[in-house]
Amino acid sequence: MQIYKVGGAVRDRLLGKPVTDIDWVVVGATTEEMLAQGFRPVGADFPVFLHPKTGEEYALARTERKSGRGYGGFTFHASPEVTLEQDLIRRDLTINAMAEDDGQNLTDPYNGQRDLEDRILRHVSPAFAEDPLRVLRVARFAARYAALGFTVAPETLELMRTLSESGELEALTAERNWKEISRALMEEQPQVFIQVLRDCGALKVLMPEVDALFGVPQPEAHHPEIDSGVHTLSVLEQSALHRQPLTVRWACLLHDLGKGLTPQEEWPRHIAHEHKGLKLIKAVNERFKAPKECQELALLVGQYHTHGHRALELKATTLLELLQSFDVYRRPQRFEEFIAACEMDARGRKGLEQRSYPQADYLRGAANVARSVAVQPLLEKGFKGPELGEALKRERLKALKAYKEAAAS
Ligand code: ATP
Ligand code: MG
Repeated sequence: MQIYKVGGAVRDRLLGKPVTDIDWVVVGATTEEMLAQGFRPVGADFPVFLHPKTGEEYALARTERKSGRGYGGFTFHASPEVTLEQDLIRRDLTINAMAEDDGQNLTDPYNGQRDLEDRILRHVSPAFAEDPLRVLRVARFAARYAALGFTVAPETLELMRTLSESGELEALTAERNWKEISRALMEEQPQVFIQVLRDCGALKVLMPEVDALFGVPQPEAHHPEIDSGVHTLSVLEQSALHRQPLTVRWACLLHDLGKGLTPQEEWPRHIAHEHKGLKLIKAVNERFKAPKECQELALLVGQYHTHGHRALELKATTLLELLQSFDVYRRPQRFEEFIAACEMDARGRKGLEQRSYPQADYLRGAANVARSVAVQPLLEKGFKGPELGEALKRERLKALKAYKEAAAS
């Protein structure tokens, strides 16, 4: 049997990027031979094994054929006769379809190295269209390598467009979609992921609520970039520049969905878009079965981001309601993430990226003030049950009023 490094490991070595996980392909072996050498099988239907010592993935060279909709509709054929070239042709991009042996001799039948040098993401063969997930994968690689100058080949984008229009994207499961989306949002330029999906018509299918933001104007005085979609991309860009976690990036993407619902005659104003957007945010959350923390933060940021921006003008009662809504007493981290998302929203405006955001410290200070109101003295006074809750609220309000006055002077 011959063993080769394939996929990301080869690509990233040639790019001079750190290689994290290595995928291997084995040519000329049977399942029985792999098992005899101590490899552990990964799944029942896949000819994939884990190395007994390193735990890395070794796949038997295989061919694939589509036999139905979605990913379940694939049949694999693995046998010792399948060649390396046959295995490589089923892969998504030419830059991912190179292999190397232990002497770093490259096998590159589909010109991946040339595309790597030319900074092009190009599909290997028309079989690309057999798995619609590849649309998301290409967009994700575009997000990852945008800084290096990579773009999607026009013919690949065309194929992605055909796939998006064919209805095939609908066959993808929430789990596969979320895996790609969440990884893409954590890439260096997540806004490129959304842009590429939009360019090929996939955004309209996957997240019509986000797609609908493009072409919707906002008041120029607050939003020099004007377009709500452009703004959303900038907010996402800022979230990556500021190394925000996935929860915050997800909230950034969805925070303004309500603007897509504003009747044209109200443009460029978006009255109550925070509230109107909630049902859209909920729909997107559920469509992809986003993790609970992502869902929760996206809804809270959607509802309260303008409160964040107006923090210094909020009445003490409103400020308290905001803090209560976030349960800042038990969930300090979540409130921090809210503040971060608001700041990214403010920075995601053309020409205002560097402007300071004093609201952040003000909100942090307010949360600390509310948190530091002690329960013990109230218990000693004999408050309990709902009355204790009310008394606590009064004390917190008093403390917030003092905080607000101090900040104003
Ligand atoms: P990463 O750095 O994200 O791990 P990778 O290229 O190694 O990138 P993997 O998901 O680990 O990506 O997959 C390994 C290889 O398997 C890819 O390089 C590609 O050749 C192939 N591959 C993975 N998923 C698909 C797919 N859906 N369609 C076609 N080829 C795929
Ligand atoms: Mg990999």
